[in-house]
Amino acid sequence: MNHVGTFPDLLTRIGAFARERLVPLEAQVADSDLIPEDIIDEIRALGLFGITLPKEYGGLALTASEEVQLVFELCWAAPAFRAYVGANNSLGGRAILWGGSEAQRTHYLPRIASGELITAFALTEPGSGSDATALGTHAKRRDDGCWVINGSKRFITGAPEADLINVVARTDPHSSGGQGVSIFLVERGTPGLVQSPPDRKMGQQGMHTGDLHFDDCVVSADALLGEEGKGFRLTMRTIDRGRLYIASACVGLAARLIHESLQYALERQQFGRPIAEFQLLQAMLADSQADYLAARSFVLQTAKRCDDGEQISMDASCCKLFASEMVSKVADRAVQIFGGAGYMQSSAVQRLYRDARVYRIYEGTTQIQQTTIAKHMIRQATMM
Ligand SMILES: Cc1cc2nc3c(=O)[nH]c(=O)nc-3n(C[C@H](O)[C@H](O)[C@H](O)COP(=O)(O)OP(=O)(O)OC[C@H]3O[C@@H](n4cnc5c(N)ncnc54)[C@H](O)[C@@H]3O)c2cc1C
Repeated sequence: MNHVGTFPDLLTRIGAFARERLVPLEAQVADSDLIPEDIIDEIRALGLFGITLPKEYGGLALTASEEVQLVFELCWAAPAFRAYVGANNSLGGRAILWGGSEAQRTHYLPRIASGELITAFALTEPGSGSDATALGTHAKRRDDGCWVINGSKRFITGAPEADLINVVARTDPHSSGGQGVSIFLVERGTPGLVQSPPDRKMGQQGMHTGDLHFDDCVVSADALLGEEGKGFRLTMRTIDRGRLYIASACVGLAARLIHESLQYALERQQFGRPIAEFQLLQAMLADSQADYLAARSFVLQTAKRCDDGEQISMDASCCKLFASEMVSKVADRAVQIFGGAGYMQSSAVQRLYRDARVYRIYEGTTQIQQTTIAKHMIRQATMM
């Protein structure tokens, strides 16, 4: 990894990388649906595949507070670049760090942190989305200890290219809900695993999602991640933490959208003066800035509480809910500020508007955050 110097140095480096290397490539990446290999190499060299993984596994070992600030900087550029490293840093890598045996950690984490391995976290299925425990994918243990996985996953980030997939499957056929669910580490090329070509998405081109199919896919006993039957708890723990990560990505993107909006409002002239002088335009700019600062402060505060060892489950949901709704509003206002130009394919804001939309959907939709937050509130109130 290439993180030498202080944390502020690293932030400066990532900010410059996003502005000077990534932003100029955004349109090309969107058109080709491909991040150039030399850029992926630079991302690797910057250590961005292992932001919070411990140093002993080759990661940057950033705290949550540092991580969110780094993501603010990285997400000045189109979200696909952050998403490309997303599973390694969040659901994929972290699940192995928290749930893996020492053998699994030493085998996989250094290659995850270096970006040699691309990981994916496969929970969602055709019949199991918000109801994440309605899993159809199941794994059965054979007499020789190996597991046989059958089922299908969909919309999985990194599925087409992933080298290592954390697969959530039911292992106790008599169980229901979050009980009797386990996670398996399935490597690319395992017989019975089919990784489908990329989906055609509304936005975030360059980051791929796809289906995964498991047809009598056999993995050895040591592919089980964590305790048998306890995989859903580990999944939820990593998703909780992942929500803070997603919220920080929303904040970074909002900063960029506000920048684009302000620059355009200062340059574009109507009625003989810059549109930034019209108070109705100023209201949009001001609302976006206030929304952005509120989300930024909230994310920083929650990250600090996470670093202090506090339970942040509800607050992480609140952050994800607030920041994802915030960035959608900011993106919508950006398109409005650009007027007709904002509706044209040639403008960055229409692309970022489409990119932003998914933040209200994945890692728990807005409605699921709302029900989760309310459940926490009710539980807290009735425990007293
Ligand atoms: C770009 C992208 C990347 C993704 N990456 C991954 C990944 O890497 N790994 C992975 O496992 N999954 C991934 N997903 C899947 C994502 O997490 C799901 O799409 C999401 O959780 C919603 O599930 P669903 O699509 O089945 O929608 P549904 O669950 O069918 O929801 C449809 C609508 O019903 C609402 N709804 C459902 N239940 C309730 C309820 N109880 N109360 C109120 N409203 C409700 C929802 O909020 C939504 O508005 C990705 C999705 C996308 C689009």
